[in-house]
Amino acid sequence: MIVARIEDKLFLNRYKTDERNAHLKIKDEKICFEKCGAHNRPCTYVCPADVYEWDGQHMEVKFEGCLECGTCRIACPFDNIEWEYPNGGYGILYKFG
Ligand code: SF4
Ligand code: SF4
Repeated sequence: MIVARIEDKLFLNRYKTDERNAHLKIKDEKICFEKCGAHNRPCTYVCPADVYEWDGQHMEVKFEGCLECGTCRIACPFDNIEWEYPNGGYGILYKFG
């Protein structure tokens, strides 16, 4: 039996990234640093595409890989993520495999 890994499935998707306009932003990095440690920074583990990465001081947001699922903005306990759909023509194009 062949079991497909999520990484293999994600590889099938195509992205057109709007490099100049991040559609995801952290509203206040101080909240991530000072308050969210107690919540284990949910954005770093709920996102299926590993968009958020905590380096111990700052939150890196690799918005280019976003699947536009909306999970992070629901999971953030401080409503600290500015979330918009990418501009028209940009973003993810799903392929099924
Ligand atoms: S879940 Fe929200 S507040 Fe917590 S680290 Fe992520 S963006 Fe910051
Ligand atoms: S919308 Fe989904 S894929 Fe995009 S950053 Fe949030 S959780 Fe990750």
